[in-house]
Amino acid sequence: MKYISTRGRIEPIEFDQAVMMGLARDGGLLLPETLPSVPAQKLEAWQNLQYQGLALEVLDLFSGNMPRNDLEELIERAYSSFHHPQVTPVRKVDDLYIMELFHGPTLAFKDVALQLLGNLFEYELNKSNGFMNIIGATSGDTGSAAIYGVRGRKRINIFILHPHGRTSPIQALQMTTVTDANVFNLAVHGTFDDAQAIVKELFNDLEFKDQYQLGAINSINWARVLAQVVYYVFAFLKLRRQGFESVDFSVPTGNFGDIFAGYVAKQLLPEGCINRLILATNSNDILTRFVNNGDYSIAGDVTPTYSPSMDIQIASNFERYLYYLHGQDGSKVKADMETFAATGRMDLSLFKEQAACDFAAHAVSEQETLATIQQYDKDHAYLLDPHTAVGVRAAQELKGDRPVVCLATAHPAKFGEAVQKATAHAVELPPALAGLVDKESRCEIMDADLALIREYVEKNALEG
Ligand SMILES: *Cc1c(COP(=O)(O)O)cnc(C)c1O
Repeated sequence: MKYISTRGRIEPIEFDQAVMMGLARDGGLLLPETLPSVPAQKLEAWQNLQYQGLALEVLDLFSGNMPRNDLEELIERAYSSFHHPQVTPVRKVDDLYIMELFHGPTLAFKDVALQLLGNLFEYELNKSNGFMNIIGATSGDTGSAAIYGVRGRKRINIFILHPHGRTSPIQALQMTTVTDANVFNLAVHGTFDDAQAIVKELFNDLEFKDQYQLGAINSINWARVLAQVVYYVFAFLKLRRQGFESVDFSVPTGNFGDIFAGYVAKQLLPEGCINRLILATNSNDILTRFVNNGDYSIAGDVTPTYSPSMDIQIASNFERYLYYLHGQDGSKVKADMETFAATGRMDLSLFKEQAACDFAAHAVSEQETLATIQQYDKDHAYLLDPHTAVGVRAAQELKGDRPVVCLATAHPAKFGEAVQKATAHAVELPPALAGLVDKESRCEIMDADLALIREYVEKNALEG
C-alpha cells in the first residue's frame, strides 16, 4: 500500500513517510493509492473483536511496510489511556444510537486519533534517530488532544495556535495548563481560519519545513483519518450483532475530517453496510451548501456558535473527497483548489448527484442546538454536548428506516456553558476537568502575523 497526493505531483510514498509528512510536497493531501475493501467473510471474522483488535485489523490494511507486532503495541498503548473498556461505547438513547467518542484524556473524539498519532510519531523518530517540530492550528479540541498525545516526549516539540478567546474557557485551559518543556501554546488574535492559514504557509515553505522537520497534527494528517475509520466499523459491527445489516451515521462536521473517515469506512465495507452519511453543520454551513446545492463557496466571516470546533469556513479535508469526485485526477483537483484559493468559490454543481449519493446534509441553528440538548436532558436524562447535539438534530431531521449512529464528539462538560444554558442546570465536571482552573498555565498571546510566528517557532524549535 503506497500513498499518493490529491494533486498528483509526488511519487508514491510508504505509509511511514505519509504519517510523517502531513501535507504532501505539492500542496495536496495524502491518500492510499487504492482504497482497500473488506470481503464479507473477513468481516465475519472481525465480528467479535474488541476495539483494539479491530483497530489492528483495519490499520493493518493501510500500514504497508509496518510490522504487525509493532502496530499492535502502539494501538494497545494508545487506547490504554481511555477511561472506558470499550473505548468508543455505543448506547441507544431514544430512537438513535449514540457512539461516545469522548472517553480519552481530553474528553473529545480527537483523542482517538491523536493518542495513536503521538505513539506513531515517537516510534518513527526512535527508528530514524530523528526529531520533529509539530505545528498545528486548533479551533479548540485538536490542540489539547495533540498536546496530550505528545507531551513530555523527547524527540518532539509542539506549537499549537488557537484563536484567542474563541475556544471555550475549558478548552483553552486544557491546552495552556500543560507546562511540559516541549509544549508551546500560542493564542492568536483572529479566527481559526487565520491561524490555519499561517500553519499552511509555514508548511508550504519547503526549506523551513525541512530544516525544522515540521510535523502536522491537524486533520490533514492521514493517520488521523485512518484512526477514525476504525470506530465506524466498530459501531457497524456492534449494530450488526443486534441484527441490523445496514446503518446510517450522523457526523457533526467542521473540517470534513471525521466524516471523510466515514466515507473511507463506507468504501471499505461491503456495499450497503453503511447506507448514508449524514453531514451535520452548524450555521457555518459551507459543507451543507455544497451537498445540497453543489455550491462550495465562502460566505462571509466565520460565525461563532455554541459548537466552536465546527466554526470553520474552509474544510481542509474536503480536498480528499474532491479527489474522488474528479475520478482520482490530481490535475483537476489542483485546478479547482487554485480557483478556490483565488476566488473563495468552486462550482461543483456538476457533482450534485454524486454528493447526494454519498451524503445527506443539514445545517442546524443555534436555537435548535440548545433545544435538542434540552430535549435529551428532559426526556432521556442524557446530556449532549453542543457538537453532538448538532449531529443528533440533523439525524432527527433526515432519519430514514435504518438505525442512525450519532457520533458524540465531546463530553458535555467541555462545553458546560452552552449545556447549562440549554438545561438550566450546572454540568458536573469530570475529574479530568475539575482541577484545571487551579493549575499553573503557560501561553503566548500574538497577532496573526506569519513573520512573528515564524520567528517564535525558530527560537523555540528542536534542531538537528
Ligand atoms: C473537531 C471537532 C468536530 C469536527 O470534526 P472535523 O473532523 O473537523 O469534522 C466536531 N466536534 C468536536 C467536539 C470536535 O472537537
